[in-house]
Order: sequence, then C-alpha cells, then structure tokens
Amino acid sequence: PGTLYVVGTPIGNLADMTFRGVQVLQDVDLIAAEDTRHTGKLLQHFQIKTPQISYHEHNRSSRIPELLRHLNDDKSLALVSDAGIPGISDPGYELISACITKGISVVPLPGACAAITALCASGLPTNRFMFEGFLPTKRKQRQQILESLQAETRTLIFYESPHRLRETLEDLVAAFGETRHCVLARELTKLYEDFWRGSLKEAISLYQEKQPQGEYTLILEGTSPDRTQLSEAQLKIELRSLITRG
Ligand code: SAM
Repeated sequence: PGTLYVVGTPIGNLADMTFRGVQVLQDVDLIAAEDTRHTGKLLQHFQIKTPQISYHEHNRSSRIPELLRHLNDDKSLALVSDAGIPGISDPGYELISACITKGISVVPLPGACAAITALCASGLPTNRFMFEGFLPTKRKQRQQILESLQAETRTLIFYESPHRLRETLEDLVAAFGETRHCVLARELTKLYEDFWRGSLKEAISLYQEKQPQGEYTLILEGTSPDRTQLSEAQLKIELRSLITRG
C-alpha cells in the first residue's frame, strides 16, 4: 500500500512551512485537508498543484474507507489540518489509527504546533507538562476536568477561543486560585504576536474592558509540589475533603 504522510503546516506565518513539507505535498497523489479552501491558499502560495479531498470532523467516518482504498491502491496521501500538527486538537487521529490497524505506514512530518511554540517561550517549566487542548464547552464538564487537575504539578497547556477566554479564566481562578501564574500566548508567529504574563487575577482584569481577540494558547503554572504552600483554592478542597471524611 501507499504511505500516509502527516504534514505539519504553519500556525500563522507561512514562512514556517518546512521544505520537506512542501516537497511531500508536491509529490503525493492526494492531500486530505480539513478545509480544502483554507489549504488551497497554502498550496497556491507554494505553487503546489496536488488535488485535495476534504477530511473533517463531520465526514470522517465515510471518508476513512475511501482514503484507505486510495492507500491500498498503492497511492500516497498527505494529511493536513487548517493549522499546525494534524491530530492535535484537529482531525487526524481516527484516520491515522485506521491506517496503523491496516498495516499502512504512517510518516510524520514535524511542523509548527501552537502548544509547543507557546510553552517554549512561556518562561514556565518545560521539563514536564500536560497538554489539555480545548476544555469541554459544558460548564459542569469543564469544572470536573479542572478539579481533577488541581494537584497537578506539571505546567498545563490549554487551547481556547477568544470568545470563551474570559469565562475560562474565571473557571481557572475558581479551580486554582487568583494568584496562580499564567501566560497568554497570542497570535503566535503572526504580526501581532504577544506574550502576556501574570496572575490569573491580573489576566481577568486585563480583559475586563477589552474583548480578547485573535488566537490564544494559555499556559498555566503547575501547583507547587511543596504542600506547605497550599493556595487558597487548594485549602478549600482540603477542608472540603476533611469535612466529607467527617
Ligand atoms: N493543530 C493545531 C496545533 O498543532 O497547534 C491546533 C489546532 S486547534 C483547532 C486551534 C487552537 O490552537 C486555537 O484556538 C488556539 O488556541 C491555538 N492556536 C492555533 N494557532 C495559534 C496561534 N497562532 N497563536 C496562539 N494560539 C494558536
């Protein structure tokens, strides 16, 4: 069978496209793209003429058998998403896993990833971290996840849309306390790239008057491993569990 290439694409700045990425997109028989119009602009910029087929959240179950047939015909396929690494908070996982099950080789091409790009310049510990992607949209589920992360000592990485950022900051304060340090990495690799660093409380007041705009990756400091430095939020949890234990 042919090979599936998982190709990372830029997260804003087209100059971040890799030479190898361009080469593979040029050489494959077909490109499976999350949004063919969006990827069309990238292909046009690099003068790539390879045909595209859409592969996204809503058509993946019907598309996967079709793409597997294509690969079984000894044809190659490249998978791309709108930005960054396919499969990272983007469609990809199901196709990749189906290929592996069928013995089709999967070759990853590294490229920009918002989480890692934000983390490396955040100033927060990079030796151990947890990627949480997008929090669920339902408040109760969000709160449950955040509660399960309260004792996490590793640096936490979240993706968030600008219109939900304020609500998320409120939920983070409720779970981790006002003083927890966070970094808002905005519009990475683009003209208005910006890193804002401060406490969760300060982040909330920053957006009291102005509306968050652009793309955000949120990096949150892990909790201190020193149990003597319990934050207010953690103290509340400890107290609650003491009370329920009676
Ligand atoms: N697959 C992508 C990756 O590897 O980074 C992530 C795709 S996910 C659908 C989109 C989210 O990633 C955005 O809502 C934002 O949280 C984050 N993101 C993508 N591009 C970004 C950028 N240029 N600056 C900051 N965050 C970005």
